[in-house]
Formats: sequence, structure tokens, C-alpha cells
Amino acid sequence: RPGPDDVTRYRELQKAQLVRRAAYRDEALLDSVTRDGTRIQLLGNIEFPDEVPTVIENGGAGVGLYRTEFLWLTNDHSPTEEEQFECYRQTIELLDGKPLTIRTFDLGADKYTQQRAEEPERNPFLGCRSIRYCLQNIPMFKTQLRAIMRASAFGTMKVMFPLVSTVMELRQTKMLLKDVCEELDEESIPYDRELETGMMVEVPSAALMAKVFASEVSFFSIGTNDLIQYTLAVDRGNERVANLYTGAHPAVLQLIKSVVRAARRKSVNVSICGEIAAEPIYTMLLIGLGIRTLSLAPTQIPIIKRIIRAVDVEHCERVARKIGTFDSERQVLNCLRDELRKVDPESFTAMSGDS
Ligand code: PEP
Ligand code: MG
Repeated sequence: RPGPDDVTRYRELQKAQLVRRAAYRDEALLDSVTRDGTRIQLLGNIEFPDEVPTVIENGGAGVGLYRTEFLWLTNDHSPTEEEQFECYRQTIELLDGKPLTIRTFDLGADKYTQQRAEEPERNPFLGCRSIRYCLQNIPMFKTQLRAIMRASAFGTMKVMFPLVSTVMELRQTKMLLKDVCEELDEESIPYDRELETGMMVEVPSAALMAKVFASEVSFFSIGTNDLIQYTLAVDRGNERVANLYTGAHPAVLQLIKSVVRAARRKSVNVSICGEIAAEPIYTMLLIGLGIRTLSLAPTQIPIIKRIIRAVDVEHCERVARKIGTFDSERQVLNCLRDELRKVDPESFTAMSGDS
């Protein structure tokens, strides 16, 4: 219930944001490379197939996170294999050759399952959510995997699993995927035999064991939204502790750094698909930490691309090293603000207006 002053202020900010976004649109289709020529891949996060055109208009090179659970959230019944297949195929076709990373259902916690639960969980964010829920509901999970694999025959697709916290979960999931492929073979249904499988790194146990996980998958996607909440023990949706929720906490940054290091050693690709990928203040730091792929809200792609084009990697690495010496998020944020102001004052002003 914002008061009239707040409403006026936010309406003005909204107007200014729209004007800025329109101005950045012209730059959206330029190459996403740093001044020294390093390519940073910018992909879009989507929840529905009809968001694909927005990703492309904003200069996205594909979709790095398709949150398929929204199919459940908008339906009053469990989506059938056919319904899912049609959605996934439509997404691939709209992408017209650009890559798609599809995430299996991230249900549970605040999404869907609690509404239907006969016995709601006391602590659902630490409960039966995401891959855990899927592994306890195998027929449902296999239906999704079948729909995904069938759609993979229509374009460039990867699949990733959310909230993995143990190696056994991942191995069990890969076994299920193998079963599904065998069934499709028996039925002579085509699918992409080279399809890459990856996992979200969004739980501290996965980040700490990245070295082990790196032998099991071909890519990591760091989900900072959850990684922050589980590392700092701060509910990402609780306004009372919102001041404690930040990606600038040195503990979070150390985890990101160690995941990137482990991934590099095994030549596993690593991207970031949490909200910090869309925040201008983090762009230099993430590049400096070695991230070369970001997946973010499509409308933020132009502004992040603008920053990428204004920096060089060596400078970003210096920033990351400096940040590594800080012990508080306040110091981290101050340093990141200063650096952004220096390389792209316009984005800095835009960012200050947005926050
Ligand atoms: C994340 O946790 O960072 C993420 C991208 O997944 P979601 O926001 O859907 O939980
Ligand atoms: Mg998540």
C-alpha cells in the first residue's frame, strides 16, 4: 500500500526507465564483446515460450534458463507429455537456431506444491522442492524428460537440473534420462543424442563440491538467487531480512570463484543465471571472476551489453582481485559502484535510478 508520494516517485522512475530502455535498444544488436575482443554470451531467462521474441529483440543470443515450472503454475491440471512437448518445441522453433537451455521442473517451496500439499511442510525451502520433488514423483518427472527429449530433435537444446545438492541425486537423474532415451529408441522416436546435460549450482554443498560435480556434467549454471539465500541463511522473499540478502557478501563471491575454478579445470562451461547477472554493478566483477556467459531478464540485456562493450578483461580481473581482499559487502558494493561509475557513468546513473 504505497502512499501517494511513493506512487508518484515510482511512476517517474518507471517513465525514466522506459525512456532509457528505448534508447539502449539501438545498441542491443551490437556484438557482445569487451574492448579487448573477449566475447561474453548474453542469454535470456524466460518462463513462457512467447517471451522468446523479447529475448531476440533485446539482442539475446538464445535462452539460458527456461523455467518450465510455470507450465504447472498456470494450469489447473498436471501438464501432459503432449502439452509439454508442444511448449518446448514452440520455444525451440521461435529461437530459430539459437540455443535453448531448458530447466526441469523447479517445483516446491513457494511454487505450487505447498498449495496442494495435504501436509504442508514446516520449512519448505529446505524441504521437498525441485529435483527432490521430481525424484519423489518419478512418473511425472519421466513425462517431462520424455517431452524434453522429443523436443530436442527440433533444435539446439541443453537440459539442466535445479537444486542439486548431492552427487547421488544427479546420478539418479541421469539414469532416469537414460531410461527415457532407451524408451524413445524402442519407439523409434528421434531425439538429440548429443544433448548436453548440466546442473544449477545454487546450494552451497554443490558449490563446495563443484570439483566432483564437474566430472558428471558438461555445464554449470550458477543460480545466485538461491545460492545467496542458502549461503547467508536469508529467505530471498522475506522483506524483514531483505537488507541481509546480497550477492556482494564475500562468502557468496568466494563460492562463485571456486565454482569457476573447478569448472575451468575440467573444461566445464559455467554461466550465471541468477538476478546478479542482470545487475549492472556486478558485470565487471563477474567478467573478472572468469564468467563468460550470463543469462538474465531479457529487458536488461541491452544495458549489460553496454557495460561489456565499455570494459576490458584485464581491468575486470584487477577489480575482482581487489574485491577478493574485502571482508564486508559494504566495501564490495562501494568498490563496484566506483568502478562502474568510472567505466560507464550513464549506466551508473541508470542503475541508481532503478534501485
Ligand atoms: C536462482 O536460484 O538463481 C535461479 C535462477 O533459479 P530461480 O530464481 O528460478 O530459483
Ligand atoms: Mg533457484
